[in-house]
Amino acid sequence: MLGKLLVIGFGPGSFDHMTNRAQTAIQESDCIIGYKTYVDLIQDLLTDQEIISTGMSEEVSRAQAAVKLAEEGKTVAVISSGDAGVYGMAGLVYEVLIEKGWTEETGVSVEVVPGVSASNSCASLLGAPIMHDACTISLSDHLTPWALIEKRIDAAAQADFVISLYNPKSGRRTRQIQEAQRILLEYRSPQTPVGLVKSAYRDRQHIVITDLENMLNHDIGMLTTVVIGNSSTFLYDNKMITPRGYQRKYTLNTAEQRLRPHERLRHENEPWALHQGINTMETAQRETAVTVTKVATPKTNTLDLALEALSKVQGRSSKREVNTVHNPVVSVFELAVSPGIVNKQFTPKQMITLAEVVGDEGKMEYTPHHQIHLRIPTANPELITEKLKEAGFVLEPLGDVFQLKACDFCEGEKKDSIPHAEELHQKLSGLQLPKELKVGFNGCGMACYGAVNDDIGIIFRKGKFDLFLGAKTVGRTAHAGQPVAEGIEPNKIVDVVETIINEYKEKGYPNERFFKYFRRVGEIQGYTYQDMTPKIEIEPAPCGD
Ligand code: SAH
Repeated sequence: MLGKLLVIGFGPGSFDHMTNRAQTAIQESDCIIGYKTYVDLIQDLLTDQEIISTGMSEEVSRAQAAVKLAEEGKTVAVISSGDAGVYGMAGLVYEVLIEKGWTEETGVSVEVVPGVSASNSCASLLGAPIMHDACTISLSDHLTPWALIEKRIDAAAQADFVISLYNPKSGRRTRQIQEAQRILLEYRSPQTPVGLVKSAYRDRQHIVITDLENMLNHDIGMLTTVVIGNSSTFLYDNKMITPRGYQRKYTLNTAEQRLRPHERLRHENEPWALHQGINTMETAQRETAVTVTKVATPKTNTLDLALEALSKVQGRSSKREVNTVHNPVVSVFELAVSPGIVNKQFTPKQMITLAEVVGDEGKMEYTPHHQIHLRIPTANPELITEKLKEAGFVLEPLGDVFQLKACDFCEGEKKDSIPHAEELHQKLSGLQLPKELKVGFNGCGMACYGAVNDDIGIIFRKGKFDLFLGAKTVGRTAHAGQPVAEGIEPNKIVDVVETIINEYKEKGYPNERFFKYFRRVGEIQGYTYQDMTPKIEIEPAPCGD
């Protein structure tokens, strides 16, 4: 009777994080073979099993002993920490079996029991640093030539993988981690978040969150896993978080604008995706093929080639700047332009400038709000904003921000209230809010630009201002704003509106439209909410129906 080999990964070290099958498999076995520290970790599970614990470097003899005992008819547990198939015993056991001509049909039965590997257990303690494409690299050069490990670090760094470094350092091996840091710094910012987890889920667990530049100033040892973030990984409340994708959009005054979940899969937010037919990336790939023959210097790598190709397409300099180029992708810069707050007339020169800055790759969308939205793939937004400003455009960010929608004041003839509109714009333009907020500002009681239908409406009439709050701007139950005040003095209007907006900014829930906020709180700055919903029976029609 042939026995059985159970190759078991028991997880990071605590019982709670060991699989049920790992526990029963250990209990089923006649003997346990493993590194002494590991046998100690599972001590409490053992009954009368024979223990064959050996030192660290005797992995081959451990595997041979296990196979021999199984061939004698025993059920043998070979234990590894984490997962037995990740720098563990599983491969070695199979190698020994294969050497002996083992087949599944004729040989001892083999069961590999999966476990939670260190990269997973350590990641869970750090926050959510892996999330996206990631790899593990062992820095141990006992069985792998250092030149190959170096190559792997280089490739992984270049391709923006999140990297878990196993076996980062031991008493004798201290240079490897320094070399790894040096290579990583060629591609990633010194501020890239790095997590060091020692003895995850064991008694001496120790967690450090640091960055690429400072990681070597902390204790790193045999029991540490080093998790290096990718170019999008960020820190929040001392947690290391990698988003599920790349931040592809940014707007005025913000470095990067996070895409909200519903925005992520939109076509325009993925300018590099392959599904768009002939696009930048495809062109880049074709260009790359041509460039390979020309740029054959030893230092050239695929990122250089891709960047060079991209820059040719976009007419920019091709030089790779170490530490500044994190992504071989170009983000989309988006903003709104209009000829002015009061002025609604575009000049031919402005139209030419628009065409120039948007180019073939960008997009222009005209909106019902007297603005044109621009979405331009670029790494150089300043160049664009400079040209637009020179052409006399007013530039505003997109997203959940304050936006003033003034009328044209009868082409400037009814000009008395214009300074107040301009003051509001100057004070609040671009202000981040829970949800987009449009303030309509009309210069006479005709209110022909429809101020009462905006979130907040301001109407100048007989030298004073009327104020409307909480229009529902879309939907089949859309309604005008509620008239809350008439005859506000000109020197008060900006303050009144600013105070209302600041209250909404502070107390509104994320994504809560202004009219919903007004309805929820019932009163804003002394103005009491009244339900303006049309009193008619109308079937609800959610988006798309
Ligand atoms: N089979 C194991 C890896 C063994 S290699 C697994 O899948 O996790 C040994 C390396 O694993 C250590 O140098 C360390 O980098 C990592 N490691 C294993 N257990 C760990 C733990 N509890 N906490 C942190 N790192 C651990």
